[in-house]
Amino acid sequence: MIASVLPTYSRAPLAFVKGSGSWLETADGSRYLDMGAGIAVNSLGHANPELVEVLSAQAAKLWHVSNLYEIPEQRALADKLVDLTFADTVFFTNSGTEAAELAIKMARKYWYEKGSDRTEIITFGGAFHGRSMGPVSAVATEKMAKGFGPLLPGFKQIAWGDHDGLRAAVSDKTAAIWIEPVQGEGGIRPVPDQCLKGLRDLCDETGTLLIFDEVQCGVGRTGKLFAHEWAGVTPDIMMIAKGIGGGFPLGAVLATEEAASGMVAGTHGSTYGGNPLGCAVGKKVLDIVSDPAFLDAIARKAGMLRQGLEGLVASHPDVFEEVRGAGLMLGLKCKPAAADVVKAAYAQHLLTVPAADNVVRLLPALNIAEEDISEALSRLEATAASLKG
Ligand SMILES: *Cc1c(COP(=O)(O)O)cnc(C)c1O
Repeated sequence: MIASVLPTYSRAPLAFVKGSGSWLETADGSRYLDMGAGIAVNSLGHANPELVEVLSAQAAKLWHVSNLYEIPEQRALADKLVDLTFADTVFFTNSGTEAAELAIKMARKYWYEKGSDRTEIITFGGAFHGRSMGPVSAVATEKMAKGFGPLLPGFKQIAWGDHDGLRAAVSDKTAAIWIEPVQGEGGIRPVPDQCLKGLRDLCDETGTLLIFDEVQCGVGRTGKLFAHEWAGVTPDIMMIAKGIGGGFPLGAVLATEEAASGMVAGTHGSTYGGNPLGCAVGKKVLDIVSDPAFLDAIARKAGMLRQGLEGLVASHPDVFEEVRGAGLMLGLKCKPAAADVVKAAYAQHLLTVPAADNVVRLLPALNIAEEDISEALSRLEATAASLKG
């Protein structure tokens, strides 16, 4: 008989009942060090007192009103995002996938309103933009798309790193190029700064819109507020989600005024998107993460974690092949199956997240304590030792 929960996940036999900072606890009181943070979602740790306070205070006042009305909490978060980024305007969603859908619609509508038939959107091998039909059609790997056809037309995929293929693919039908500055699900693969610059140039030369998916790499994850800041280029449209809510479901599409110009009243909507609860929490997360001192601390902690991981690669070359990533978005390329490494880490009460390309991801809370980084490293050491058998 089918499980009462639709079995689309193969779950670890672990259930947590509470959390604090970078630690999670099961009902029997066992503590696990969480280096996955709900897949880069719990950006400020579990049960962060400041977020709990904001959430509780807002919950006692107002949870939801329709977007038929002004929502001051939404406006405040939008203002702050506009202040801090390239963007002139923001639409709030409840997830990264919903942000992906709007990014597609916005890019196509932009060209439609210009009287152009540019509708095609280019993506890259290993990309992940969500699980609804838009992103699934855009990426269309066997794992993502098999059995779900017919897929939506109007997407083209270029192999990761295929510069010539990309140039050849951009035509007078191209509406946008869509990329994660640091690939998450694809195996923690940063796009080199030079390539992001090259992409911006290519888009400028050809009038193509550039969409960054910073759902996983954004909101402080790499040590800058947004990953693209390292390359000194900006997109026309950007998706965020995961970390911005600190665990509350929240996403957004940020855009320049020009790129957003087709999205006039009535062209898009969301019942829950931009609700007072989510936006109050998101604003607090952003206030904390955008503080330059906080971002500096991320970079410092990231250096510490990375150095430790490099040491692990050096001392366990039969288990770990290399460290990759940026900031606190790090991946360990494994020799044994990444799923087995994640499993072996459970035995050390350490939570990590597998990714494609046989990589184990480390995506801790951005405010992880330094002693928790040391603890994670020694548990990874024990994990590697246990795998040698
Ligand atoms: C997680 C993720 C998404 C999808 O976000 P959901 O909130 O799961 O819908 C999209 N893009 C990237 C890069 C992601 O990591």
